[in-house]
Amino acid sequence: MTLRTHLLGFPRMGENRELKFALERHWRGEISLDELEQTGRDLRARHWDLQREAGLDFVTVGDFAFYDQMANHIQLLGCEPARFGFSGNEPELSRCFTLARGLAREGDEKSCPALEMTKWFDTNYHYLAPEFSADTAFALASERIFSELAEAKRLGHPVKAALIGPLTFLWLGKEKTAGFSRLDLLEKLLPVYRKILARLSAEGAEWVQIDEPILGLDLPSSWQQAFEPAYHQLASANAQVLLATYFSPLKENFNLACRLPVAGLHIDAARAPEDALLAADWLPAHRALSIGLIDGRNIWRADLDLALDFLRSGRLQKLREIWLAPSCSLLHVPFSVAAEKGLDAQLRSWLSFAVEKLRELQTLKNAARENADKETLAARFPLLAQSRAALQSRKASPRVHAPEVAARIAALPADIDRRKSPYPTRRAAQAARFQLPLFAATTIGSFPQTASVRALRAAFRSGKTNLADYTAALREKISEAVAVQEELGLDVLVHGEAERNDMVEYFGEQLAGFAFTANGWVQSYGSRCVKPPILYGDVSRPQPMTVEWSRFAQSLTQKPMKGMLTGPVTILQWSFVRDDQPRAATAEQIALAIRDEVVDLEKAGIGIIQIDEPAIREGLPLRREHWGEYLAWATRVFRIAASGVTDATQIHTHMCYSEFHDILPEIASMDADVITIETSRSDMELLRAFGHFHYPNAIGPGVYDIHSPRAPSVEEIEGLLEKALAVIPAEQLWVNPDCGLKTRDWPETKAALANMVEAARRLRAKVK
Ligand code: GLN
Ligand code: ZN
Repeated sequence: MTLRTHLLGFPRMGENRELKFALERHWRGEISLDELEQTGRDLRARHWDLQREAGLDFVTVGDFAFYDQMANHIQLLGCEPARFGFSGNEPELSRCFTLARGLAREGDEKSCPALEMTKWFDTNYHYLAPEFSADTAFALASERIFSELAEAKRLGHPVKAALIGPLTFLWLGKEKTAGFSRLDLLEKLLPVYRKILARLSAEGAEWVQIDEPILGLDLPSSWQQAFEPAYHQLASANAQVLLATYFSPLKENFNLACRLPVAGLHIDAARAPEDALLAADWLPAHRALSIGLIDGRNIWRADLDLALDFLRSGRLQKLREIWLAPSCSLLHVPFSVAAEKGLDAQLRSWLSFAVEKLRELQTLKNAARENADKETLAARFPLLAQSRAALQSRKASPRVHAPEVAARIAALPADIDRRKSPYPTRRAAQAARFQLPLFAATTIGSFPQTASVRALRAAFRSGKTNLADYTAALREKISEAVAVQEELGLDVLVHGEAERNDMVEYFGEQLAGFAFTANGWVQSYGSRCVKPPILYGDVSRPQPMTVEWSRFAQSLTQKPMKGMLTGPVTILQWSFVRDDQPRAATAEQIALAIRDEVVDLEKAGIGIIQIDEPAIREGLPLRREHWGEYLAWATRVFRIAASGVTDATQIHTHMCYSEFHDILPEIASMDADVITIETSRSDMELLRAFGHFHYPNAIGPGVYDIHSPRAPSVEEIEGLLEKALAVIPAEQLWVNPDCGLKTRDWPETKAALANMVEAARRLRAKVK
């Protein structure tokens, strides 16, 4: 059996986010396109070297993009939407940035919004969605992938080129005209793919990896049926194709994937280990099976012993060619653990980022080739011994396993996720306590994070400001925020969140079980990167996290002050989490920690507490059959966090960044007293859903988009509220913006909120 190693894609930002900084310099006009291209070339060369140093049999070409791989693909296939009005004389890369960032020219005439950005499957990476209409045409229109292939060849590397598959490309696009299906474009698309494949192979790509991750989704039968004829057409290009699937088990598409006329198949063995073994049974022996044994979505050191056992299992032996790879592109993990000097040696020994994963692959390949027992192998391959030691230390470490957390979970009463009384009783208790007007006006939590707010936090972090001065300065900010809100006439106030830079990091830093990297950046979109916390151990809350700020804020006003927390699902969703227990179990621990904070806020006299869950929808599994299970635990952990309080304490939640109309019953089952939810960007689309589903508790559909600096007029907001009143009873309706205001400045914020409060007043006058 031949064993080879490869990867599906490498992070492109660079070890120190060189690409980000070069892009931003270019956008500020400080470096030319040529200089930017040079940065790209340097990064690719360096990343290919790393792949070869780790003994990979090919370097992968085509995974690099200055902004986004889908944007590259749109350009390769010559289908930039006509609405951008390109003359064709603009440099390709400038057009790419226009697709990504839109055009804002003088006057509204020529301005043109960017391509829509959407999450790449269930990752936190955002791609630019292609736009299709019945007359979309395709042509081989970019030389980029061929020149990068030539570049790699010049450097002496054996190459595998990577392309997004035709069906996945169409699936991920948006239909811009009515009465047609983007699947109809396949016939026009395939000849261009054939050309691309033929050229890639003629110009020296030994293999072409075609990514069709949609094979892991619930596909309509027309899409399933399109695969075979399409790949038969592509077969005539005579390229050696490796079909790559990832993120999700293939299930009913499994046979289809094995049947396609390609030279090899990649399976994500982290998400679908069964598929890898089944593929060994079903794949014709002359095909290559690429097994994604190393988890490309998480940051833990692999269990190499387990991987070796898997490779030695009898079922794989009949295949002639086995390839080893990370489960998916390494785009979703940071560059290297080597930069994490701030983490202690033990924690560092548990981690594996992109560079380390390549070394794991190398060890796996070399060890699997030997016919020795594990002890001999461990003596020969230090990484194998290290992997074993790291795993054992993780398993046994008191930093990971806190008996008091386990004991608390084991003793949870069955009604831990139930409020004391049903909503109508709570509603009466809260109405008596707060005496709020109809259409109560509030905000979502954060106020403008001005330069002075950020400077304050930075000075405290670096030790330039001591705790006493920092506290005094932040109290000043809170006082200002409270004064502004009093003057605006809002009904429920917030303290403004000036002490937080990020809604997950702020809590993670104060909870047990979390670690933070110095350089663990992962691309989110374009030049934007995020640095997710690492949740490595049992979670608990050693001490109150927000209580003093909220208590102080409440002391400044007679109006109710809303406490502000991030919910368990959102904290889970935006962190790298443990792989040694189910996500649901980790979420339950976070929920208990948040619950402790909720209870302490109540004790401190905070009567209204908001638990934000903007990420609840993005946690939905890729396959619908798993939605029910996910939603059951996700809503339960929210209720656990929210249910430690008395009837007269009002729990709010907030959601944004997604459409929620298809999970309204589950959102209702969270049983928050009030939910504030993003609506205005979709022109109150959500409200239509309320025509069918009667939301039982109170709700504040966002009445203006906080992403825009423009203050909406009183009439506009009133109009939206009247639309809302058509489906939501007046007693249930709150008035608030779509989301937090931290990205805005104060003048915009005051102007918009003044109009919002006025709209609520006018509506009150009308209804009475
Ligand atoms: N309370 C947070 C804020 O106002 C909510 C942020 C969010 O929903 N993304 O900033
Ligand atoms: Zn929000």
